[in-house]
Amino acid sequence: MIRALYPGTFDPIHNGHVDIATRAAALFDELVIGIYDTSPKSLLFDTAQRVKLAEESLAHLPNVRIATYHGLTVMFARDLAASVIVRGLRAISDFEFEFQMALTNKKLAAEIEFICLMTSLEYAYLSSSILKEIARLDGDIAGLAPVPVQAALRARAAELRHAGASHMIAPLVSSRD
Ligand code: ADP
Repeated sequence: MIRALYPGTFDPIHNGHVDIATRAAALFDELVIGIYDTSPKSLLFDTAQRVKLAEESLAHLPNVRIATYHGLTVMFARDLAASVIVRGLRAISDFEFEFQMALTNKKLAAEIEFICLMTSLEYAYLSSSILKEIARLDGDIAGLAPVPVQAALRARAAELRHAGASHMIAPLVSSRD
């Protein structure tokens, strides 16, 4: 039985994430989506909302479950008895970061393997930040995120517009996002 962990911020989950999760779920017996509880990024959705959106978006995959965590990803993987950590790779900029993280994590937990799945071409440009930016500017987000996520983004954008917030997007803190 091979359990894999797909960790990330998922603020919010989008079709690029769903694609990686779907493909990873086909490779392993069980896939746990690990949502960082205390992300260094400034977030649009709180942890409970990110979990709910991930659950709704991945409900069709029977061997996938959602969990939250804080602290080191490898420690969480150990707690879960996951032997693999899955990440997604979009471009060269993703590679440099993921390579460094994989080597660091390997140093911390040599028994855990890191597997990067290449993005599908149609999602190569897609990030949570881009998605939030399009939603903020009232652009068409159909095809970029699952339907519940689209609805949540529209609602949040309207909420922030109503509150007079000048933006709903956190500054980018990751070259990958
Ligand atoms: P993090 O803050 O850990 O980067 P994200 O939610 O931004 O969390 O991303 C989680 C994982 O999903 C990362 O490995 C990221 O590279 C990958 N990912 C994000 N967007 C895409 C995409 N469009 N295609 C493939 N992988 C992606």
